[in-house]
Amino acid sequence: MSTILKVDNINVYYGSIHAIKGISFEVNEGEIVTLIGANGAGKSTTLNTISGLLHSKTGHIEFMGEPLNHVPSHKVVSKGLALVPEGRRIFLQMSVQENLDMGAFSRRGGNIDADMERVFEQFPRLKERRKQVAGTLSGGEQQMLAMGRALMSNPKLLMLDEPSMGLAPILVEQIFDIIKNLHKAGTTILLVEQNAQAALSVADRGYVLETGKIVTTGTGAELLASPAIKKAYLGG
Ligand code: ATP
Repeated sequence: MSTILKVDNINVYYGSIHAIKGISFEVNEGEIVTLIGANGAGKSTTLNTISGLLHSKTGHIEFMGEPLNHVPSHKVVSKGLALVPEGRRIFLQMSVQENLDMGAFSRRGGNIDADMERVFEQFPRLKERRKQVAGTLSGGEQQMLAMGRALMSNPKLLMLDEPSMGLAPILVEQIFDIIKNLHKAGTTILLVEQNAQAALSVADRGYVLETGKIVTTGTGAELLASPAIKKAYLGG
């Protein structure tokens, strides 16, 4: 299995706040890897650093064998790495179709129409509503749109920041079903979640972040079964 993403001992600061304290992890082709942790553990900071929105002071990030440090975020997307940010950030005034078109903007080559069809297969709801203004979609539909838009860049790695946030339980289930389907279709996924139960249930492997450090790692099943993880993150 080849390693797609390698994060090696990165340190990230907000001014004098040391938010990420020397974390290392990797994502292999075809895997779902999850980063779980409490509020403020550094999950979003990690994803934003990989996507080039923030920069690590020390350490290395390698994507598909090439260094990613200090590559600006728009170039990161064209290298095949797509982030669905926390809060979705879709274009609310634009239609569903226009949002998806925007997702294809920075890609190089490939068949955009075929990918659009694949996105519509994965998200039939978006196909039904392709002309609807995105701001009038429900929360779950907006999350689907954000994921569909990211997939339109034809990414090698899809990074999802808290996709279940703010959604009713039935929609959370739907979003995780979609994540499983994307995985089956071969998409490699790095998933950040506060819903540790759901994330570990779909993940091949997971890393637990506490105040900017990785404290535990294991397969999704191992972490789900761990008494310490149950106590701290699974309400048990
Ligand atoms: P959540 O699940 O609540 O989003 P998280 O695990 O994603 O949490 P981060 O948002 O990465 O955590 O935050 C990590 C740490 O960095 C926290 O202590 C947070 O207060 C701090 N932090 C995040 N953004 C900033 C910022 N713009 N300026 C200063 N400190 C920040």
